[in-house]
Amino acid sequence: MRILLVEDDPDLSRQLKRALADAGYAVDHAGDGEEASFLGETEPYDAIVLDLGLPKIDGAAVLEGWRRAQIATPVLILTARGAWSEKVAGFDAGADDYLTKPFHTEELLARLRALLRRSAGHAAPSLSCGDLRLDPRAARATVAGEPLRLTSLEYRLLHYLMMHQGRVISRTELVEHLYDQDFDRDSNTIEVFVGRLRKKIGPERVETVRGLGYRLVAVDGEARRA
Ligand code: CA
Repeated sequence: MRILLVEDDPDLSRQLKRALADAGYAVDHAGDGEEASFLGETEPYDAIVLDLGLPKIDGAAVLEGWRRAQIATPVLILTARGAWSEKVAGFDAGADDYLTKPFHTEELLARLRALLRRSAGHAAPSLSCGDLRLDPRAARATVAGEPLRLTSLEYRLLHYLMMHQGRVISRTELVEHLYDQDFDRDSNTIEVFVGRLRKKIGPERVETVRGLGYRLVAVDGEARRA
């Protein structure tokens, strides 16, 4: 899952970037409205955290621009305390949720999880596919009840596949949603990560659809053995 964080305060940006990365997301950061507008229109994010008070172009105008360009990515806006009219403007511009500053990082992460879940059409907070389970609240995954030891990139890959299970996902789509913009994509091909994930969760769970990409399929270990 890849997130765009738009915030001009350097301290808050650093803190949020770290918290988002620790929670398992690939994170790009924009420090002003112009950069935010460009990144949001050119990169396929899974969700965007958008401060409304920004240099160059204000957040509500950036958001309006995205929505006019038919970009439907869920957006959580950050507003100043007491500025209720900002919230109204934000929702009118196309926001999906908001948080008032100052806020607890935990609340931001919880709201993001809810946004991501709803935008992918999932009702329950944890994801399952056969006997594979993933809980974004704890950034943990298990197979047949056994905890999986995954690197952050393997976790991100599994999270994305589980969010979109049953659907064929191309390598390009995976690259776009797993890596942040600074990541050296050439030396870290998706095939390698899919191979490593397969070893950990069982190769039969990630189908290769020739020429198209990968699909996560439900496998029940108990049923298979019986
Ligand atoms: Ca600001």
